[in-house]
Amino acid sequence: MREPVIWEIPLPEITLDEVFQAEGANYSQRPPHPRTVKLHQQIIEEAASLVRPTAIWVEVDVKGTGVGELILEDGFKLTSNLLPNVAGTAEKMLLISTTIGSAIEDRLTEYKEAGKMSEAFALDACATAYVAKAGTIAMSRVEEAYHRKGLKTTFPMGPGHSYWKGLEDMQVIFHFLRAERIGLHLNDSNLIVPRKSVAMVMGVGHNLPDFKGKTHCHFCSLQKTCPMSQAV
Ligand code: SF4
Repeated sequence: MREPVIWEIPLPEITLDEVFQAEGANYSQRPPHPRTVKLHQQIIEEAASLVRPTAIWVEVDVKGTGVGELILEDGFKLTSNLLPNVAGTAEKMLLISTTIGSAIEDRLTEYKEAGKMSEAFALDACATAYVAKAGTIAMSRVEEAYHRKGLKTTFPMGPGHSYWKGLEDMQVIFHFLRAERIGLHLNDSNLIVPRKSVAMVMGVGHNLPDFKGKTHCHFCSLQKTCPMSQAV
């Protein structure tokens, strides 16, 4: 295992539509009320001042596969049926966690305590949109670095989606990442704290199956109803 790498990610831009999408709102039949638009524009501006995207990633050796599992160095395993199919021939797994920090979470708590639920709801959606974009940027940068070396990468996958239900593997990912260096830890339910953070894995190697532009959402039972299926 190599030493984990920490990256500051430039602040991504998020759009009103992306925030509505993160809320699960559907304005295809009638446009949002101007008051709703104004509130969301204000909250997007506020969110931008609170977000600090940071990523940590590390390269781990793949030692083999088992039924529904990928065996990593030091005897650790990742357990999802999708992993051996997608990354069974990978030479390494890249483990990546991205966060937008805790300031936005603190502000959310303030809004909730003040009974400002519309603001809290909009800010939560902004945070979701930001972390999805920051995560995508971080993973793209890692992909590019490996593609430049002539290696292939799989699409990113992560615990907590329907094809990889259990969150116990977050402990394996965090064991290798040592993500406390960017202020991240797991709670008793293996969820990342601060909440607006993501962890994904990606296979890398010379001989990987070609999934022809598919992403992990194509293997997820929620893709028709998930508000984030276009963003993550
Ligand atoms: S549709 Fe995509 S983003 Fe949504 S839960 Fe499934 S894999 Fe995750």
